[in-house]
Amino acid sequence: LPVVALVGRPNVGKSTIFNRIISQRLSIVEDTPGVTRDRIYAHGEWLGKEFSLIDTGGITLNDQNLNQEITSQAEIAIDEADVVVMVTDARVGVTNEDEVVAKILFRSHKPVILAVNKADNLQQRQDIYDFYALGLGEPYAVSGVHGTGMGDLLDALINQLPLAGNEPADDTIKFSFIGRPNVGKSSLVNAILGEKRVIVSAAEGTTRDAIDTKFINRADQTAYTMIDTAGIRKRGKVYENTEKYSVMRAMRSIDRSDVVVMVLDGAQGIREQDKRVAGLAHEAGRGVIIAVNKWDAVAHKNQKTMQEFRDYIRDEFRYLNYAPIVFVSALHHQRLDQIMELVQQVTVNQNRRIQSSLLNELLLKATAVAPAPIVKNKRLRLYYLTQVATAPPTFVAFVNDPDLFHFSYERFLINQLRTTFEFTGTPIKIIARKRK
Ligand code: GDP
Repeated sequence: LPVVALVGRPNVGKSTIFNRIISQRLSIVEDTPGVTRDRIYAHGEWLGKEFSLIDTGGITLNDQNLNQEITSQAEIAIDEADVVVMVTDARVGVTNEDEVVAKILFRSHKPVILAVNKADNLQQRQDIYDFYALGLGEPYAVSGVHGTGMGDLLDALINQLPLAGNEPADDTIKFSFIGRPNVGKSSLVNAILGEKRVIVSAAEGTTRDAIDTKFINRADQTAYTMIDTAGIRKRGKVYENTEKYSVMRAMRSIDRSDVVVMVLDGAQGIREQDKRVAGLAHEAGRGVIIAVNKWDAVAHKNQKTMQEFRDYIRDEFRYLNYAPIVFVSALHHQRLDQIMELVQQVTVNQNRRIQSSLLNELLLKATAVAPAPIVKNKRLRLYYLTQVATAPPTFVAFVNDPDLFHFSYERFLINQLRTTFEFTGTPIKIIARKRK
């Protein structure tokens, strides 16, 4: 998807505009703990055109002065986005900081749309001519709070989006490493690319995609694309180690991957930020593999250490119970082939299709083992199960009343699917529909 970034000094209303743009889509976002809070990255859509949206205002460095802060945010926007929306405040007028941001954006030659927010009444909507002085073209008066003017702004925005098909479709398996800074993502990338792979191309094109690497894995003769991720392309910018920035980069990588490898630091254990990244991976419905890196650096290992670490992971990331776990060392090139084998297998599992006849056999057995629940004196009846999509495998259960199809019974059915068919590494979704 093309990327749009919002920039502007604090308090101009970037996050109000962000929420307004993504609002139609928010309802379909699942509620994974810690994910929806402080969202700075989401999908937007206008007149059928989809894009990713970043609120750079959420990426703060805190210990710096305001000019440095907004300069960084403008740099992030220029690095990451195809189109930048600069947000200003109608009630305050043009400020010095606005001029600083506008100058940086102007020099970048990126398409910029200028939004003048808080133009809540007619007078304010007419008083926006001063903003021409920023040299960014026509200002668009909007009210993020009331929603006025948003249509014109979005029209202008989608006119500037690059044409679809910018990323040529190919049938390589796309995967990426995600995780907090210093867990060893870039070491893993280098180690994997360094041995037994034939590099086909390091994609050029736009700077933000510059390090996608296409290669043939000698072991299985399969073509893969390793997707850019936080920490791999280190440019030495101050914001790179902030949590928000690395979360945003992780989301960008997840978006573009079929399978993500969530990297943990075996020597340090699991941190809060790991949980956040894991939640994002799960929410996106991609295949997930958990790699415990730096296993070489774990002291006093015995026969139980691995199993204990497994249990620890299962306990901390309950919703990722389907993700296979592999213990690796980028430093000593240990079990890197296992990562590649898992990426291959998980891709197969994500795209697996189960015949309806087999699903209904399963349904018969399952209802024999655990009769469908009775809720408020009414028993759930399951008539038919059928697969409607892959990646992730998605099933529709036709029932007498979808309200009776509770989470616990859904989980039971998902477990039955997992024990009967090979779905390691992929989330499974079941949608209940009323049988007509
Ligand atoms: P990233 O920020 O996740 O990309 O992490 P890096 O790949 O830059 O690695 C962070 C640090 O961990 C570096 O000092 C690496 O040398 C070190 N490191 C990475 N992988 C391993 C490993 O398998 N074992 C050990 N002992 N150190 C590692």
